[in-house]
Amino acid sequence: APLVVAIDGPSGSGKSSVSRAVARSLGLAYLDTGAMYRAATWWCVDQGVALTDTGAVADAVRALPLVMGVDPQDPTVVVGGTDVTAAIRETAVSAAVSAVATNLDVRAELGRLQRAAIDAERAAGSFSGGRGIVAEGRDITTVVAPDADVRVLLTASEEARLARRALDVHGTADAEAVEATRDQVLRRDADDSTVVEFHTAADGVVTVDSSHLDFQETVDAVLAVVAA
Ligand code: C5P
Repeated sequence: APLVVAIDGPSGSGKSSVSRAVARSLGLAYLDTGAMYRAATWWCVDQGVALTDTGAVADAVRALPLVMGVDPQDPTVVVGGTDVTAAIRETAVSAAVSAVATNLDVRAELGRLQRAAIDAERAAGSFSGGRGIVAEGRDITTVVAPDADVRVLLTASEEARLARRALDVHGTADAEAVEATRDQVLRRDADDSTVVEFHTAADGVVTVDSSHLDFQETVDAVLAVVAA
């Protein structure tokens, strides 16, 4: 039978790497919905759309020529034939993405694309894996796929999240690196929280707190929820 796993959480919770590993382990496809918001942001900037013009942003995103690669070994993001997998991780995109993600017309459009991708994997595995998908983001357990077979909220203390993000971005989690990421991480989560709730688990969603778990322990904890 197909299996749909939805995983939400704030930035620095380890969501993306954990979700990828869970998908690999289960032989399922992997969808990074944050990458879709990042791709939409990259596209608006590329098209010269002012991010403050909500109508123009919505129109641009409705015309977004997006192809998401869902192989967890090599998740790719292609926009209009350009591979933007690396470009969408740049600081300029991270800083601008909340402005696009808080646009409700954008959320409706990307939510529709996300549901279509999930339904396609439910119906037929798109690569060598079996039928099903691990989809991760901020509103997958609640809005995009509340009907998922397994729903997990991956949380971590603010301290742990800042340390992980500092390690990702600066290659170290010393005090200076943590301070350098603090504003960016906390501001983005605060902005995102105005449109989606991802700090408390909705009814039926299982919380996995990774504050005191290493990477493999977190993956195992999520796999235990899937197996339960
Ligand atoms: O997960 P990641 O940090 O790459 O997500 C980038 C941004 O995409 C988030 O800060 C948020 O603005 C947006 N996002 C969202 N809903 C999702 C996934 C991501 O609004 N389901």
